[in-house]
Amino acid sequence: MRIFLASANAKKITEMQRILAEHVPDIEVLGINDVDGYVEPVEDQPTFEGNALLKARAGVAATGLPSIADDSGLCVDALNGMPGVLSARWSGQPKSDERNNALLLDQLHDVPDERRSAYFTCAIAWVQPDGREQVVEGRMDGRIIREVRGSGGFGYDVVFVAVEHDAEGLTSAELDPAEKDRISHRGRALRELAPQVAADLNAAG
Ligand code: IMP
Repeated sequence: MRIFLASANAKKITEMQRILAEHVPDIEVLGINDVDGYVEPVEDQPTFEGNALLKARAGVAATGLPSIADDSGLCVDALNGMPGVLSARWSGQPKSDERNNALLLDQLHDVPDERRSAYFTCAIAWVQPDGREQVVEGRMDGRIIREVRGSGGFGYDVVFVAVEHDAEGLTSAELDPAEKDRISHRGRALRELAPQVAADLNAAG
């Protein structure tokens, strides 16, 4: 039960493998760093769905394996939905979570608490070698705090408090991994997709 996950982010691969394994216990997930000479396509689509499909199709073309790709990002209401598809490279190249978070906090410096709402969104594409394609989406609502807090997760987790943890004010970087999986955009989308992945892999033998 081998699939390719078109990501080089070790934390993201671990997070996704953990959720898929609940439905497909013997799944083996290869990432970009497991494939010699893998050339990542330019993520030039205007939507999360478009970028997820582009990455998964490139994965099938390069490996011949059924492939999953996610494209996700943070949409901040006070910034008209930005950074959106630009989340990973919001503060420019080379990509840096630390600079992205510093820039975001700076941009929201004068935005009052009641207007700091934001959500993470995620599109996950599942593309099979025979050309079948499926895309699912998930979302996690919350707000942006005023400082960086926590050491788990990745990306903007350190500045994001999900609605489910609003009362305690815990950031996504302060949640244990299972709790983040339960409420996250990626967890929700992947749990919706996982039974289909299991069915397709079983059917392929
Ligand atoms: P992608 O790898 O092109 O999908 O870019 C996703 C970017 O969005 C990441 O680099 C993060 O900056 C942000 N992001 C997506 N999901 C999460 C999450 O679960 N926590 C924190 N940041 C996230």
